[in-house]
Amino acid sequence: MAFALVRDGSGSTQVTLKKGTADPALFALFADLPRESVVEVEGTVRRSERANRGLELTPMRVEVVSRAEVPLPLGVVDKVGADLDTRLNHRVLDLRKPAVRAVFELRAALLTGFRTAFVRRGFLEIETPKLLRQGAEGGATLFGVDYFDRRAFLAQSPQLYKQMLIGAGFERVFEIAPAFRAEPSDTVRHITEFTSLDAEIGYVDGVEEVRGHLEAIVAETIASARSALAARGNPLAASLPEIALPLPRIPFRTAEEWLGRPGAERDLGAEDERAIGERVAKELRTPFYFVVDFPSAVKSQTFYARRQDADPRSTWYFDLDCRGLEIASGGLREHRLDRLTANLASAGLDPAKFDGYLEAFRFGMPPHGGWGLGVDRLVQALAGLANIRETRLFPRDRYRLDP
Ligand code: ATP
Ligand code: MG
Repeated sequence: MAFALVRDGSGSTQVTLKKGTADPALFALFADLPRESVVEVEGTVRRSERANRGLELTPMRVEVVSRAEVPLPLGVVDKVGADLDTRLNHRVLDLRKPAVRAVFELRAALLTGFRTAFVRRGFLEIETPKLLRQGAEGGATLFGVDYFDRRAFLAQSPQLYKQMLIGAGFERVFEIAPAFRAEPSDTVRHITEFTSLDAEIGYVDGVEEVRGHLEAIVAETIASARSALAARGNPLAASLPEIALPLPRIPFRTAEEWLGRPGAERDLGAEDERAIGERVAKELRTPFYFVVDFPSAVKSQTFYARRQDADPRSTWYFDLDCRGLEIASGGLREHRLDRLTANLASAGLDPAKFDGYLEAFRFGMPPHGGWGLGVDRLVQALAGLANIRETRLFPRDRYRLDP
């Protein structure tokens, strides 16, 4: 007997040849067919107890459309796992594994779900420039590029442009686009090219309006992804949580008490976020939660973050986390030009370099707020992946520009 599993995007089917009953030439071709070759098989479908899906195919004709080289640099059906670097070096073969492909079906279902949820709420999809004269998030993570006889930078976030569009009267906008950050440290939650899902809302009444949109959109998107994946038989459907709203809101002050450093007003690092996540899992039993009211001291570089009028030591900024991983950051923005300029100066930035942005605040700017959400981080959290690189088809990091 000779067996082969013939696989396509929808699954695999067993092809069986019996020596003696089959044409010897066909048997020989079949027996020495290298793994992962592309074939066209024509034959008879039979019920079979032994085969997966209860069916097997007895071929009458086998055509080798594209013969795979031997040996394969990476096994596709092997049970033993290769290390991540090897997998990423041979990503096309790696992506043939059904479990790897499942992650990208999840990713696509989330993107579709997000777009639907935004459009239902009257958000307009926008596309802002990725080649910029100035960064928004701080110089350390800017990628410079040669731009004819000038220096330009790759966008770290669409922050300034989505705010400018609020000034243009586009009341609700969203964008799903690449963001680039020259992350100097090699971590399992940072890559240099990620997909940022950004939203901005004008005429907001307060930060709760922003958080309300974000949590509802995330919950709705995950629910729609769950049904889309279940319909395809994707095993990740079962791991997508039901989300009860409203999500818990944990004041930053409380989070620092949990961390044993009350009132320290230090930014939350990865370890801190993990510790908060463990406490939430134990006490609140919810994967998603907000950490709210970040202190002004922590957001001093975030010049567009609005300070609370009643307590300027605190901002209206929040993070959305999932099981100890930061997924999104957002808040109310400073829409008053004098305070915005003062914030720029105290962040050590030259307001003259932001004149195009600041002009949007000079001729009428509604109060607004929004968020930036890392799509890759969300996929990582939902699929339970140890490394964010697994959420991208061809990830980019400090050392990897290929394939
Ligand atoms: P972190 O503190 O985890 O480095 P951040 O607070 O610097 O993230 P933000 O500026 O708040 O990031 O960006 C908004 C969101 O974009 C983050 O919550 C995260 O989901 C995502 N994000 C930011 N930087 C990266 C990165 N280098 N790789 C992947 N996702 C990222
Ligand atoms: Mg953040």
